[in-house]
Amino acid sequence: MTVYLVGAGPGSRDHLTLRAADLLGRADVVVHDALVSTDVLALAAPWAELVAAGKRGGERSADQQWINDVLVDRAGRYDCVVRLKGGDPHVFGRAAEEAVACLAAGIEVEVVPGVSSALAAPTAIGVPLTNRTLSSGFTVVTAHQDPHTDQSINWDALAILGTTLVVLMGASRAASIAARLRAGGMAPSTPVAAVTNATLPNQHEVRTTLAELGAPGTAAIVSPAVLIIGAVAALDLRAHDGLLAAAAYDSLSSVHVQG
Ligand code: SAH
Repeated sequence: MTVYLVGAGPGSRDHLTLRAADLLGRADVVVHDALVSTDVLALAAPWAELVAAGKRGGERSADQQWINDVLVDRAGRYDCVVRLKGGDPHVFGRAAEEAVACLAAGIEVEVVPGVSSALAAPTAIGVPLTNRTLSSGFTVVTAHQDPHTDQSINWDALAILGTTLVVLMGASRAASIAARLRAGGMAPSTPVAAVTNATLPNQHEVRTTLAELGAPGTAAIVSPAVLIIGAVAALDLRAHDGLLAAAAYDSLSSVHVQG
């Protein structure tokens, strides 16, 4: 009896790791998030029990304790229990809490990393997170913090880093994120890209600037979305857009963060 906390990647089954696909194919039980696509779930064996444990902002969600209890219960009855989570299990995925609950019950746990949407979403729209001249790093934050944490995000510090900022769970908070970053000194002209349903057939992107992000009358950012904020967000390196990308690249060399 082992519980595998498995990253399902950003959506498309093409982004699953071989380990994830192998475990899915032999799992007795698959306990999955709302963000795991039906294409991925179709890789489970026909006899596997599928348990939906969706936790999506704004939707009715399964209680964490209930999920922990299901994992412990099924692991007591079956050999292979897969807990399938969107992206990577440890990126805002609460895998640690589930691992601790299983370990406390004497159940073996293995965490299988997945391709996080923080990495896949930018790539899906041709945005490189780092670039030799435009950005020397990236920071990934959530816009949806646990109200009980005292680790509040220092948006003023993020505003002056000068590297790429990737925000998860930020769709409905886009306007307030933009306001916090502008207040911290980030230039209103800073490029922003938002990707909804990255890697899936209904993938959708919005390109804007910090000044316009979330502003009334502009394109709404629909969840689940990854926000990419910084000079690289104006690039589009997809093959069919190569020329456009080169033009954007030239015009961007002059964009800097005001500090
Ligand atoms: N563990 C996940 C993140 C879970 S938090 C990971 O590593 O990707 C859920 C958030 O992830 C969503 O609100 C959204 O910001 C982001 N997300 C997950 N899948 C996405 C997708 N296919 N497209 C865009 N954003 C996605």
